[in-house]
Amino acid sequence: MKLKRRTEIVLETRETTVIRFHRRVFVFCRSCRKKTLHLSTAQASRVLSLPVRTIERLAASGRIHATAADDGRPRFCADSLVAVDET
Ligand SMILES: [Zn+2]
Repeated sequence: MKLKRRTEIVLETRETTVIRFHRRVFVFCRSCRKKTLHLSTAQASRVLSLPVRTIERLAASGRIHATAADDGRPRFCADSLVAVDET
């Protein structure tokens, strides 16, 4: 009986996305206890490639840090977005 030879090739890929925002807003994040870059709902959605509703749900659950801007709209702590993206 002839033995079959088997070769396994494993490829690992890594992707880095760089998104530049025209206007950057730094706000004090109570959870991080420091000033961090804060993003709008649309920007957070773009960064995580998730729908706006998911961003809002993650904020409601506390997985991402949300702060109300002066205009009343939510802003999301970029540092907390990074933590969500890595899970
Ligand atoms: Zn934060």
